[in-house]
Amino acid sequence: MAWEALWLYVIVALLLRLAVSWAWKGRLPMSQMIAKSHSTRAARDSGPADAPESMDSIRQRLSEANAAYTRRHEPLTLPGAPRLALAIVACVDPRLTGRLEPMLGLKPGDATMVRVAGNTIGGTDDISRSLAVAVFEQGVRYVVVVGHTDCGVAKVEPLEFAERLSERGISRFALGALPLREWLGVFRNEAQNVRDTVQKLRTAPMLPKDVAVAGALLDVHTGELTWLDE
Ligand SMILES: [Zn+2]
Repeated sequence: MAWEALWLYVIVALLLRLAVSWAWKGRLPMSQMIAKSHSTRAARDSGPADAPESMDSIRQRLSEANAAYTRRHEPLTLPGAPRLALAIVACVDPRLTGRLEPMLGLKPGDATMVRVAGNTIGGTDDISRSLAVAVFEQGVRYVVVVGHTDCGVAKVEPLEFAERLSERGISRFALGALPLREWLGVFRNEAQNVRDTVQKLRTAPMLPKDVAVAGALLDVHTGELTWLDE
């Protein structure tokens, strides 16, 4: 009887151990558990459903368009300096791609285009470096900051952004020690953000005082431009 009890004990212990082992192997890492609980966000992170499947598809698409372009267009000779001595600072929003220049009546060679998320000076200060090159290397004398309505940067939630980084295996500190809100240049009001950027550029130590800076807001849907005079 004692031996039977011992065998039973051994078998139950083995089964328990196997069960624990299977459960451990089957468990999801915390990041994936978070991702599973945010299926909408996961879909957003994987990109639009109709996006090309691979870099090969992207390259093929761009190459075909490029071949068609070079067949249609004669080579264009333009100086590297903008004809209007103008730099436009605008957002990276894809809805402005291909529309921004026509909305402003700008032709190739007219202006230096500086596009940076939220057309704002964030912790990385991409604008200053580009504008310094524009002013001191390209002869730019006029800078127009062009914000737009419905800007994605105005909707960024730093905590959710950090969570998304973590879900993709990236430490929030890979972006440096600045507070995320500051690093990202998050703002809440597009018009005020333009005014703030204009003010920062007017007082930027790297920009000479004879460079004039103005600000405006584009309606991303209608294309209407509104000057933001202080
Ligand atoms: Zn934007």
